[in-house]
Amino acid sequence: MEKVSEVDGIVSVTIIGGGIAGLTFAAALAQRGARASILEARGDDVYRGGAALAMAPNAMWVFRRLGLADKICRPGSRIDRYLFVNPRGRELKSLALSDIGHGWDEAAWAVPRAHILDTLMNALPHGTLCLNSPVTGLRWDHDAFIVESQNRLSRHHGVLVGADGIHSIVRQALWHLPPPKYQGFFALRGIVSHTLPNSHQDTVVQVWGGAGEFGYSPLGPDRVYWFATIPWPDPNHPPQREHFLRHVHGWFDPVKRFVEDTPDDELLIHPIFDRLEPFSDRPFPATLIGDAAHLMTPNTGQGACQSIADGWVLARELATSREVGAALSSYRRQRLGPALGVGRRSRQLGRIIHRRFPLGVAIKQGMLLAFPASAVVGVMREVVGSPADLGEPVC
Ligand SMILES: Cc1cc2nc3c(=O)[nH]c(=O)nc-3n(C[C@H](O)[C@H](O)[C@H](O)COP(=O)(O)OP(=O)(O)OC[C@H]3O[C@@H](n4cnc5c(N)ncnc54)[C@H](O)[C@@H]3O)c2cc1C
Repeated sequence: MEKVSEVDGIVSVTIIGGGIAGLTFAAALAQRGARASILEARGDDVYRGGAALAMAPNAMWVFRRLGLADKICRPGSRIDRYLFVNPRGRELKSLALSDIGHGWDEAAWAVPRAHILDTLMNALPHGTLCLNSPVTGLRWDHDAFIVESQNRLSRHHGVLVGADGIHSIVRQALWHLPPPKYQGFFALRGIVSHTLPNSHQDTVVQVWGGAGEFGYSPLGPDRVYWFATIPWPDPNHPPQREHFLRHVHGWFDPVKRFVEDTPDDELLIHPIFDRLEPFSDRPFPATLIGDAAHLMTPNTGQGACQSIADGWVLARELATSREVGAALSSYRRQRLGPALGVGRRSRQLGRIIHRRFPLGVAIKQGMLLAFPASAVVGVMREVVGSPADLGEPVC
């Protein structure tokens, strides 16, 4: 039986899941002089692949305070513009993104996911991360959590944090909440070698046509990250590359080329779920962060950004509150409302994007054109929020 000891006055912390949420939280704790122990199901491969992530100003603000922002951005691209085009490549709307970071004083970036994970992992004290440690059972027993992993039971005192993503065993075992809901579409993603023209080196291009979406962004000077979604009836029988190629048949070059050039083993195809039921405080010291707390569709590009914000706030509350129960409760009150609000926005946006319009794509494009650019930027700003959503003073 393992007993986790108290460290530097902050109660000991066990984190289940070493993805973006778990690693950011552990790095934020380490910055405050506290240590956590992370049980991660997968081996080294967890930190390979995974295409790229848009890191909005809220996430970059946290990384800056962790002293990691410059390292995180290094292989990525700063994104200053969003360009909506039709399937022939004709411009529908162009948005300057300089305004969305208002209050954060940070820009948005596109960064390889593996690089973000690697940077966070390297910021942790040696021995924090236990790979190949899938948690298969969990319960609260009077004064400690009993954790089952690799056919062994261990006893964990202190705080337990579920950062175990979409199929969170912590959420199931300690909150008994319903599973995620399939949202009726799949996402496809890849990274290809390609140099975009200079005028597009800071631009996300999004094709607004048909049901679903397609977009791409620079990822450093000579790579491109592309992402797409298509409506699909059955989460258990995924679409293949060919289905998607049919969907974008006749679209402007290089859309088809990006999809064709992505190697098989790097083409990511995932069914999209969300889960927006709130969790409550419990009579034992446990909480949830990241997708385990508020799984959202990728339509606002905020799932990881909100997870990073969770990690920052939870570490701060644990380090500054007098009592663990008060710290967990304060974290939950500050973070859950804003994150679930973003999740609802994402769901609404996903429904519009994946709707089949009876009069065709012209209606969908008309809707986009009808919104002034300032209104679209206003929605983006609302989604990215402000430091107040992290309980921090607004500058
Ligand atoms: C198509 C797509 C595009 C996206 N694009 C963006 C974007 O551009 N920007 C953005 O901010 N977000 C984006 N997201 C969302 C983002 O990927 C997630 O919100 C983010 O990865 C959540 O991080 P997490 O740490 O909570 O979960 P995860 O990244 O899923 O990590 C959970 C970890 O827990 C481990 N684990 C699971 N179960 C156990 C167990 N029983 N025992 C031990 N370990 C366990 C897993 O192996 C994993 O390492 C996108 C999502 C999708 C699907």
